Amino acid sequence: MTTNTSFAEQLLIWFDQHGRNHLPWQKNRTGYRVWVSEIMLQQTQVVTVIPYFERFMERFPAAKDLAEADVDEVLSLWTGLGYYRRARNLHDSAIAIAEQHQGNMPKNIDALIALKGIGRSTAGAILSQAYNEPGIILDGNVKRLLTRLHAIEGWPGQSKIDKQLWQIATELTPNQRNADYTQAIMDIGATICKPKQPLCVACPMQARCQALALDRVASIPTPKPKKVLPHKTISVLLLKNQQGQILLEQRPSKGIWGGLWSLPEFVNLKALQTQLALDGLPTNTRPITPIKHVFSHYKLTIEPHLLVLSNMLQKVSENNRSQWYDSQQLHTIGLATPIKKLLEKTQ
Ligand code: SF4
Repeated sequence: MTTNTSFAEQLLIWFDQHGRNHLPWQKNRTGYRVWVSEIMLQQTQVVTVIPYFERFMERFPAAKDLAEADVDEVLSLWTGLGYYRRARNLHDSAIAIAEQHQGNMPKNIDALIALKGIGRSTAGAILSQAYNEPGIILDGNVKRLLTRLHAIEGWPGQSKIDKQLWQIATELTPNQRNADYTQAIMDIGATICKPKQPLCVACPMQARCQALALDRVASIPTPKPKKVLPHKTISVLLLKNQQGQILLEQRPSKGIWGGLWSLPEFVNLKALQTQLALDGLPTNTRPITPIKHVFSHYKLTIEPHLLVLSNMLQKVSENNRSQWYDSQQLHTIGLATPIKKLLEKTQ
């Protein structure tokens, strides 16, 4: 194979032999199914996404079903996938599709980008994968592949490099076999041109690859400049009543774990105990092993404190954001992942 063969032709020859063509979202391809899969696949591995995608499709086979659902149920099916804003955006956009597009996924880039949570690359993936249009994609896998092929130095998150990559991606995108091409470029990025130890010996693009020629594969793409993540510690109250129910609070829709259920949160143990005293409850809480969780912008240590109400007369008032839950009900609501793990451990 010479470099005179176009990039797309060469990639498609590789795809016909090695590409993935049994992924669940590649069956019964619709704009809706491709959209949901693309959103789930953001920051998440294919193998993790598959069971979530299948459960989601079983419950919400079309945009209309998703639009009619309660956001709490949508979040419960998302629990464990992380980045919950994706689920809320999916739900909001399904409502917009029902109201503005008669429940049908739009088929043009401007209408797609107007929907919450759909960026240029996701819109390109929907157009190419569902409608075989020349949609252009530039997800993390494609960015890595293109920076290596062209030996582009500098963190790809910078706008000038992002612009350069879009330009290259646009020039490379063919006018035919678009669904296959998009899948192929994602597949080669995910399975051959991997972040660590790329399989250059098995790569059909060796002859084109400038990073390989310059022996700079290990240093391209340039990593994001490191910043030290701030660290925050909070206390949470694990309050059980005599029936073994747990008091949960729904978090505000904006911010971390937006709209998910969690344990009542306090800045520290003193604030937690002050609130208990104000509610006329005992303050002899028992500490449980802290949980550490890392977000993209900070590290969090959660210090849980257990209190079991032993007296029938001890009452905690529920408000519209807090509610007692039986352990059997926990799988029906969207729970913050560390809290879900803590409750599973302490049941
Ligand atoms: S030769 Fe190696 S670095 Fe270059 S595109 Fe292929 S896998 Fe990536």
